[in-house]
Amino acid sequence: MIGCDQPGLTPVEDAIRYLLSQVVPLTETQVCELGQACGRVLASDVVSPMNVPPADNSAMDGYAVHPGNDPERPIGLFRQRGTVLAGEVFEGVLSAGECVRIMTGAVVPDGARLVVMQENTDVVDAGVKVTDLAALKPGDNIRRAGEDIQKGAVVLPAGRRLTPADCGLLASIGVPDVEVVRPLRVSLLTTGDELIAPGEALAPGKIYESNSFSLRPIFERLGAEVQLLTAVSDSLPAITDALKNAADHADIILTSGGVSVGEADFTREAVESLGQLDLWKLAMKPGKPLAFGRIGETLFIGLPGNPVSALVTLHQVGLPVIRTLSGETLPPRIRIPAIVVDTLRKRPGRADYQRGIAELHADGQWQVRSTGQQGSGILSSVSRANCFIVLEQDRGRVNPGETVLVEMFDQWLL
Ligand code: AMP
Ligand code: MG
Repeated sequence: MIGCDQPGLTPVEDAIRYLLSQVVPLTETQVCELGQACGRVLASDVVSPMNVPPADNSAMDGYAVHPGNDPERPIGLFRQRGTVLAGEVFEGVLSAGECVRIMTGAVVPDGARLVVMQENTDVVDAGVKVTDLAALKPGDNIRRAGEDIQKGAVVLPAGRRLTPADCGLLASIGVPDVEVVRPLRVSLLTTGDELIAPGEALAPGKIYESNSFSLRPIFERLGAEVQLLTAVSDSLPAITDALKNAADHADIILTSGGVSVGEADFTREAVESLGQLDLWKLAMKPGKPLAFGRIGETLFIGLPGNPVSALVTLHQVGLPVIRTLSGETLPPRIRIPAIVVDTLRKRPGRADYQRGIAELHADGQWQVRSTGQQGSGILSSVSRANCFIVLEQDRGRVNPGETVLVEMFDQWLL
């Protein structure tokens, strides 16, 4: 177990650092068509086989001109030798005083020094006249070969989870498919005798099972293959059985519930009997208990049962582990300062991930207000929020006007 200044409580950052040190990322790869690759994790660097753009081309509709070799006395009237459209190449070399009508994206003819915008020209009997000689700066309105990507450059590194722009970029270098890490296999178990599936009648003492509905989409957005087992009974044999089956095929098992110290909390005992487990009390709120371990080669994370705790713990602590396991290089977390509008109740001792609604105020300052009740069962507090208000472990009550850090919800929560 790792150190911590609060007896018995592990600071969140320390826990994450330790967990990441225990993860061995997947190495099995697949070839994936580019059209299906968005959201997948690159298994190897992509090196560009070409320059982008491949040739100097025009950024404007206008005239490609050769204004002579004396920058002090440029030629302002040109003889038009032809027209070149996007996709075409003008055969020939321009000499001083010659021009070619050119469209955006067309390759700049040899000899042309710049492109003059159509708006700065007049077609007269003698040829094409440039109305503003000061507009004749060499290189103007020419997009240079290789200005976006140079041949041989690493366009995207291994470990990158591909975004829509990345996929466009890969298309622009002519790549039809990429080597990606195979999808992660996740097994999600929710435990509890009180849980009933939505759609069924709610008997006295029961509640509807909601954790699988808030957690599963996150794994699916990660591109994982999810095996789900809901409402596993609170009994040691039932949980042991479910875990044993899950460990047979999954890279990682996540459970919700059953890791507290209640009389019906068997998840911990079950994992200990099949493999190894650390039970941690994280210095975070919501979501104090967190179990981490292994059953054979399969990683295990036991999330708390309370719906807000499960979701926040998965997002803040579980996701870095899962993303690293899936081969991804984690991007830095982004937190921005904001002024609090209302009073935030808090006691020193645990980092608090309160749910808030942040907006940019007219004066350019970010402001944030609480979504209200912050109990670990108040799932509407997450549903209504667009950010976490991250309050440091040692911090106490926050008064209106104080500055806090907010972490806007990312693509996993929105
Ligand atoms: P536990 O950690 O199992 O003691 O659960 C803590 C609280 O979360 C209890 O009130 C449970 O009823 C509730 N809970 C546990 N699992 C779920 C679930 N899958 N969906 C909704 N509530 C749950
Ligand atoms: Mg339970």
